[in-house]
Formats: sequence, structure tokens, C-alpha cells
Amino acid sequence: MECSACSRPAVTHLDYAGRSLCASHFERLIKRRFKSDLRDQLEGVGLEDGGRIGVGVSGGKDSVTLTWLLQDALGEDPRFEIVPISVDEGIPGYRDASLDAARALTEQIGLSLEVVSHAEDHGISTQEVAEMEPDRQPCGACGVFRRSSLNRAARRLGCDVVATGHNLDDQAETTLMNLLRSDLEQVLRTAPHTEAPDGLVPRITPLASSTEQEVALLGVLKDLPFHGAECPHSVDATRRTYRGLILDLLDKEPSVRHRLASLAEELKRRVEPEREGFEGVSSCRTCGEPSSGGLCRACQMSKALRGA
Ligand code: SF4
Ligand SMILES: [Zn+2]
Ligand SMILES: [Zn+2]
Repeated sequence: MECSACSRPAVTHLDYAGRSLCASHFERLIKRRFKSDLRDQLEGVGLEDGGRIGVGVSGGKDSVTLTWLLQDALGEDPRFEIVPISVDEGIPGYRDASLDAARALTEQIGLSLEVVSHAEDHGISTQEVAEMEPDRQPCGACGVFRRSSLNRAARRLGCDVVATGHNLDDQAETTLMNLLRSDLEQVLRTAPHTEAPDGLVPRITPLASSTEQEVALLGVLKDLPFHGAECPHSVDATRRTYRGLILDLLDKEPSVRHRLASLAEELKRRVEPEREGFEGVSSCRTCGEPSSGGLCRACQMSKALRGA
């Protein structure tokens, strides 16, 4: 298989574009796409002239590649600062190894890593949640705690925006799941954000036009230190169902992920001007995070789990 742009051997074939690319043309494509999405998303939150960009780094392939691309795109630009943040959920044997990868990457590119933890922020680790409720996956609490910890750290560190490593497959799955649940509100809330309620640092997803496979391939080609193992609790059956549906469709519709993601963006563009802003959002009385009641969801969950 030859590169469609030169005669060198191809490292990948892009079904949705009907092209094969060598390592160098592939890297160029992903970087060009990344920079264009990053520029648009920063412009969407009014940061085109500079700002402090927090980045959630779990140590997995997406977040490691994202951090490397951010540093590549903005590292030399004095108007921007990149602030990597890792959330330690407290999952022995898994998170420790991925935190090592996050540390190795940030050291390699000359950034310092801020590590926060569920135990410190919410008084309970994911492992403890799993042990308390052995018949259930701890993912519900884990996801709520992680989003809260990331937002708290980003606010404390003065970040104007937080970048996360969601790729095109993630965006397509989330969109399909929310559409089939008729949950328009969730579709509209999905990052990249152009606005956010007070206290919520808006999130951007500059990798969201590249597929999971493309993000992983770039990470491998650049020899980035990522941690490949899956969380031992990761059996999110619902998400797997949607992932399976999309994979089945891909055979016949190679652009299905792109279409789902652009449908979500189109819905956001059309509906957002008519929304009423973020009325009813106040601050959690315990931790100060945005909340629609007295206590935010993370504090409610932590209280229930700890019996406090
Ligand atoms: S798979 Fe579940 S428990 Fe594991 S890190 Fe993700 S949300 Fe947390
Ligand atoms: Zn080429
Ligand atoms: Zn709270």
C-alpha cells in the first residue's frame, strides 16, 4: 500500500476519505486538523489571543497524544500556557501505572503535572466505592467525582478552559446514545463548549475530528509514553452497545462517526441562541462547584457513600 500523496509506504488507510498515508503525511494531516479545531474552539470561548489551557491527562493514549499536540501547537507561543492535570481516582494497579505515563510525558515535553485525587477531594477512592458496592460498577460515582476534581483543579489553577482527549469515536457514541435517549439537553451540554455557567471551566475537545485509531497511531509513531491497559472496572455495557452499533454501521457508512458528530454540532448551533442561559445554577454549599441544588452531585454521592 502506497501513500496517496507520495510514493512512500503507507502506515494507514482512511476508509472515510478513500486515502492511504505514509507516516509523514499522516502526521501532517492530524496536526493540521488539530490546529484548525483548536483555533475554532478557542475562538468559541474568546481565547483566540491567549489564555491558560488546562489539560486532563490520564496517561492513556488520547490524553497523552492531546497533551503532546497542544505543546506542539502552542508551546512556543508566549500568549498561551498549558497546565496538565491528572486526577487519581484511586484504582490500585491501574491508575498508578497511567500516572507514571502522564509524568513521563509531561517531563519529556517540559511541563509540570498537577495531580489531584478523589480521596482528597471527595473523601473516598474509586476502589473504596467498588468495595462498598461489589455488585455494581463504580463508574457512575467515578465519572462524577473525576469531572468535579478536574474542574476544581482547573479553577484553582486559574485555567480559562480545559482540554480533554475525546476523539471522534467518543463524540459519535455519546451523540448516538443521547439522541436515542431523546436527551437533547445532554447533546447541547457536550463539549466543546462555547459558554458555561459560573464556576464551570468550559471544556474543549480539539481531538474530536480524529478517530480513536488515528489518535493511537500518532501516539505510537511519535513513541509517546502512554499506558495501554483498561481500567479493571471498565465494563460499561451501555457504551459498548453503542460502540458496537457504530462499528457495524462503519462497514456500510464509513463516514457515520463524522456525520453523528457534525449533527451534534449543528444542533448546538441552531438551539443554543434560543436557550435561556444558565438560570438556576448556583454554588454547592460544601465545595463551591456549580450546582442546581444546595449540594452538587459529587457532594451528594460522597455523603451517601460515606454515610456522612
Ligand atoms: S472505567 Fe469506570 S471506574 Fe474505571 S476509571 Fe473509568 S469511570 Fe472510573
Ligand atoms: Zn506520503
Ligand atoms: Zn459539592
